[in-house]
Amino acid sequence: MTSDVGIADALEQIDGVTVERNAPSGPLCTYRVGGPLDVLLRIERTEALADALGILAERSVATLPIGKGSNLLVADGGFRGVAIVLGDAFSDVLIEGTIVKAGSAASLPVVARATVNAGLSGFAWAVGVPGSMGGAVRMNAGGHGSDMAANLVSVDIANLETGTISTRGADSLDLAYRSSSLTHSELVVSATLQLTEGDAESGASELKEIVSWRREHQPGGANAGSVFTNPANDSAGRLIDSAGLKGLRIGSAEVSAKHANFIQVDADGSADDVIALMGEVVRRVQKHAGIRLHAETRLIGFANALVEEVCGRVDQAEGKS
Ligand SMILES: Cc1cc2nc3c(=O)[nH]c(=O)nc-3n(C[C@H](O)[C@H](O)[C@H](O)COP(=O)(O)OP(=O)(O)OC[C@H]3O[C@@H](n4cnc5c(N)ncnc54)[C@H](O)[C@@H]3O)c2cc1C
Repeated sequence: MTSDVGIADALEQIDGVTVERNAPSGPLCTYRVGGPLDVLLRIERTEALADALGILAERSVATLPIGKGSNLLVADGGFRGVAIVLGDAFSDVLIEGTIVKAGSAASLPVVARATVNAGLSGFAWAVGVPGSMGGAVRMNAGGHGSDMAANLVSVDIANLETGTISTRGADSLDLAYRSSSLTHSELVVSATLQLTEGDAESGASELKEIVSWRREHQPGGANAGSVFTNPANDSAGRLIDSAGLKGLRIGSAEVSAKHANFIQVDADGSADDVIALMGEVVRRVQKHAGIRLHAETRLIGFANALVEEVCGRVDQAEGKS
């Protein structure tokens, strides 16, 4: 599906949005690389969402929700369609008793700290995950023994094909290890969590421990966290390390020497180098250990054959018609 250039003209008539054509995706992604987005729609006011949905639903166009871009790789060739970013107006965090309602654009570390400050327990794990609530729901993000599924009650979702917003229970999202049944045409607008009463002081030490564990074990710089999901009863990092792949480089992308399941990209690097390196890692681990790795990173705009090589299936590619 190609994007409809007229859609950008229609969208920019809405009060409370900004529209950019041919927008670079690198600044929106933690890898800091990637090709242009045909249309980048930023919805800055909550009132503008309904109008934007009306226009998107009226036209047949590929869509791509983007949160903090901490699990995304957009091909150097770019994305043909409308990428949608929800602005700060969608980042409120409301806490009532043990119920937390957070806007989709709220960052996980901010929500984690707010819940601990409010004396709640169950969401401290998220302090080390640099994503948004929306992206975390879509990915069923998790860590330190927990994940979104453990506390998610419901989500408000805007359907970009029908233009409707509805509230759905967490059990309708098929949340599983780093996955959900949400598609690229379902935009999470907010998420409601059920936490438990805890103790702010022990919560604060838990946050501290998690942050220092991350500093010690994970590299900084341009990456998107774990590249591959862990196979059952094993760790992708261990498998990549024991295949001797730390430091393996293709062009501007390199397997991190600090954590083998991270790929670091040079400034002004290339997304196509990253996927080429991912493919090489999959092949070498398969040869060394007989285990097939599967990408956790969401891949956008790449050829099906490449996606299949690193994911084992094509449905992991986003924004396909
Ligand atoms: C240093 C580092 C450490 C990390 N550690 C962890 C970890 O411990 N555990 C973990 O699970 N992940 C981890 N990640 C990966 C990443 O932070 C999570 O997957 C996070 O949930 C992605 O959120 P995001 O907002 O960045 O999503 P994006 O990367 O923007 O998008 C990811 C997916 O979610 C979709 N999406 C984004 N926003 C929305 C929305 N509003 N509605 C619907 N779909 C949406 C996108 O279309 C895409 O399919 C790490 C990443 C980094 C860089």
